[in-house]
Order: sequence, then C-alpha cells, then structure tokens
Amino acid sequence: MTAFKALGLEENLLKAIADLGFETPSEVQEKAIPILLDRETDMVSLAQTGTGKTAAFGFPMLQKIDVNSRTTQGLILSPTRELCLQITNEMVAYGKYMPGLNVTAIYGGASITEQARQIKRGSQIIVATPGRMKDMIGRGLIDISKIEYCVLDEADEMLNMGFFEDITEILSHSPKDKSTWLFSATMPKEVSTIAKKFMHTPVEITVGAKNVGSDQVTHEYYLVNARDRYNALKRLADANPEIFSVIFCRTKRDTQKVAEQLIEDGYNAAAIHGDLSQSQRDTVMKSFRNRQIQMLVATDVAARGIDVDDITHVINYQLPDETEVYTHRSGRTGRAGKTGVSIVIVSKSEVRKIRSIEKIIQKKFIAKEIPSGMEICE
Ligand code: ADP
Ligand code: MG
Repeated sequence: MTAFKALGLEENLLKAIADLGFETPSEVQEKAIPILLDRETDMVSLAQTGTGKTAAFGFPMLQKIDVNSRTTQGLILSPTRELCLQITNEMVAYGKYMPGLNVTAIYGGASITEQARQIKRGSQIIVATPGRMKDMIGRGLIDISKIEYCVLDEADEMLNMGFFEDITEILSHSPKDKSTWLFSATMPKEVSTIAKKFMHTPVEITVGAKNVGSDQVTHEYYLVNARDRYNALKRLADANPEIFSVIFCRTKRDTQKVAEQLIEDGYNAAAIHGDLSQSQRDTVMKSFRNRQIQMLVATDVAARGIDVDDITHVINYQLPDETEVYTHRSGRTGRAGKTGVSIVIVSKSEVRKIRSIEKIIQKKFIAKEIPSGMEICE
C-alpha cells in the first residue's frame, strides 16, 4: 500500500486499491505511474499480457481528470468489445471513491442510441473499440475535441485487426497537444509507425525482455497423430478435473465444432468467436468468469486481452499461423503472480513450429505424453 502511495497516488485511489487487494505495484505500474502523474508526456510501454497495464494507465488518468467537469477528458482505445467492457469495469472499480465519475464503454454490436444517451450524461472517460468510435464521431454523437489523455491499449492487436485507418480518423478529431500513452505486448513495425505518427518524443518503458513469455508459465507439448487431436484434448481434461482453461482453435468453425463435441461428451465447455452476437458473447464470458464453464474454446480475436483470473491451462488445440500469437495465447495464464501451463497439441509435421516458438519465448517446451486411462483413474 505504501508502495502505491510512494508512486504519487492520492487517497481516493489508494482506498480503491486497498479494496481490490493490490499490495504492491507491478513493474509496469512502478515504471509508468510516477512519470505519467508527474508530467504531460507521450509514452510507449512495451509489456507482456498480465503485467497490470490497465492500472498503469488507469490510475494516472483517473487522478488527472476533473470529475467536476462533464467534458470528455480521457479516451482509451482497445481492440475488442470484451476488452473494452473489462477496462471499463476496472476503471469504475479504481474510481469508486470519485463521486461524479462517468466511464462509458463504446463498442459495436450494442445499441448506438443507448451509448449516445450515456455519452450525453457527460463521460469524463470513454473506453472504445475503434470501429464504433469512428462511427459515433462521424455522426456527431461524440466530441473528443477536448481530450487530454489518449490510451492506445493492445496497440499491436488493434493494428493486426486492421484498425490503423479508424485510429487515424479518430485521432484527427482530437487536440494535437494531448498526451498519448501507447501500450503493446509486442513492437512490430506497424506499432513503431503509429508511435512515430502520433507521438512526440515519447518516454519509452520496457518491462521484461521483449516477447519473452511470463516466468510463471510452463510450456508443454503433446505429440499426437493428427486424427487423435480431439481425444488428446479430452484426456487432458480428464487428467485435470479442476481444469479452468482457454482452448484455442484457428477458425470460428473449428472453435464451434470442438466446443459442441466437448459439450456432447459431457464437458463443461462453451465456444466464443466472432459469429456469436454480442449478448451471446457476454453470457459466455459471464459464465466462464463464474466458473460455470471450465473449458472456453476460443478464436484468437475473441479471446484477446480477456483477463480472467486463475486460468490453469491454455491449450493450443491448433497452433496459430504466426508464432507471436502464441505469446498472447500463453499470456492468458500465469497472470498476477499465479502459475499456469501452456499446452500445445501437435502432430509430427508441426514439431518444428515448437522450435521456432522456443526461440521467441526464450524458454524450452517440455515434451509430454498423453496420460493413459489408468493414470487418469488413479
Ligand atoms: P494487462 O493489461 O497487462 O494484460 P491487466 O491490467 O489486465 O494486465 O492485469 C492483469 C491482472 O492483474 C488483473 O486481474 C488485475 O486486476 C491484476 N493486477 C493488476 N495490478 C495488480 C497489482 N499491483 N497487484 C495485484 N494484482 C494486480
Ligand atoms: Mg490489458
């Protein structure tokens, strides 16, 4: 607690932090918060998932805005609807002792009228996905001409998803002299480009080594015949009855198929992917958070940035095309100091991919055997 105070945070935030049970700041918080509180500056922060980036920008933004004014002062752009809602909830929790604070989530798939109504109440902070945000600015429903702080969260992912033009359009409606804080797990060329385009001599912060996965995560692979992939998954679930897991597939179709099969076979599973409606996705996420679902089968986009505590296993049912995506996937577990296992189910032809992932995460995989029926019964 005193450690948070030493960063320069005020009483109302410290009280909320105590309620949340945060004891010491994470590395990215320790590095970013004092700088962002102390001066108006742009910042590029490179930190893997699960390192506490939301609070690293959330605390300073909350401390700096004026809750007595109804003007929109802070904008947080994030890649997905789920992430947008999650950040909004976190900001509300951090700001619980700031009477008058309004944080509004703006994302696609939900009623524009309702979102516009919330904005009209006067939101000091807007958390938005780029597509819907651009749309609402275009219709004159949102005014960001007075924002002072702009966060680009998960910048690498937003650019991967093709939001470059939307972001450019949105920012063209914002003042030039605002502070921009960019957060990203990886720093591909596109992210440097956007940093150069929108920022002036940003302070740079790096947490841990670039692209290196969390130390809390053990990486394992199971070599199987391609046709045994699904059975291997079931075996893994049987061997870990307390499993609380995200299972990654490459396509929406496979995601749906694997989830349906698991449900049919009596497992506590559900699918999440872009073909579901927003309310379906919200329901699935809620049940997963409440542990009513033990195995969430997901596409990369749907699972991106989702912060659910205590995920025990990340299972790569299929490996991603790009090795960098593996880092994002395995970052779903081993969060906030907890340990976790990231498992890859591979066929012979894919083993070389394991080797290239090892180079990126700078860790060795442990080769494991699928547990036999006997072992599971023991
Ligand atoms: P990131 O955006 O870097 O992936 P999040 O901001 O989502 O990470 O934080 C990951 C998890 O860690 C969240 O559940 C958050 O509540 C928790 N957390 C953040 N900061 C702290 C802290 N200082 N102490 C304990 N838990 C924390
Ligand atoms: Mg985050």
